Amino acid sequence: MAVCLNSERATSLIIERAGRLVDRLIVQRGHDKPPFPSEEYARLLGIKRIEKTDLGEASAVLLKLHDGDIIKVNATHAPVRQNFSCAHEIGHILLSELRLEPSLEEIEFRTFNPQAQRIARARARERLCDAAATELLMPEMVFKKYLSGSGVSINSIERLANIFRVSVQAAAIRIAEASAEPCIALLWLSRPGNKSKALRLAWHVGPGNKSTGKANYAPVHTLVRHTSTLYRAYQGETPVKSWKLFRFGTATKRCPMESRGFGREERRYVISLAFPDR
Ligand SMILES: [Zn+2]
Repeated sequence: MAVCLNSERATSLIIERAGRLVDRLIVQRGHDKPPFPSEEYARLLGIKRIEKTDLGEASAVLLKLHDGDIIKVNATHAPVRQNFSCAHEIGHILLSELRLEPSLEEIEFRTFNPQAQRIARARARERLCDAAATELLMPEMVFKKYLSGSGVSINSIERLANIFRVSVQAAAIRIAEASAEPCIALLWLSRPGNKSKALRLAWHVGPGNKSTGKANYAPVHTLVRHTSTLYRAYQGETPVKSWKLFRFGTATKRCPMESRGFGREERRYVISLAFPDR
């Protein structure tokens, strides 16, 4: 029988389990210097091999064969994304070891529709595997050490992403989670072609409830027009400082924010870090 838990408890259990695997790797290697590539965890867990292949839309799959597990990752994706996808599949292995079944208590609309319940459970499971992958690739204690060394700033994101061999977006999310000072990470995207010359908020993270991924702070405006200061980050290469209005509970607060553009052309995006306590 799988154990049914609320998502906060399930999240801390899966992170704890991932943390034990990190510890084993550190002991085996004799050092805690990043990166922590998913291949090393796969070897530690006795996974037969990682196959890089074209998986179409899928990022990765875990195949449980009679003579061992195989992870297939999408070879068309960027290496940092492959690394995360592979760590996510390792998260599935850890999750099945723990025999956790995320409960439905935090689902917005309660439903007796079995299909909706299955989808909600699957989503909750995917979130747990992402939490495991994050801990494996960017172990909290090690990441905090490097973060305090480089400082919580928009200029640290790329450096930390390179050190931990993760995407810029994954590093930004981890900064918001691991920062001692409250920090909100935001991703802004343009529409294909960018005819409207505007950016839209794709996600924002923490400080808030890690298990549900919902931040307590939400930006009041989720559209950035080309006349705004923030849009300059999309156009140029230099970081841009601005202010942004955030809602938390029933109150609003103007917070200082640092933004930078990453990627080229169609894949151009802007990441911001906002600081509620500055
Ligand atoms: Zn998955």
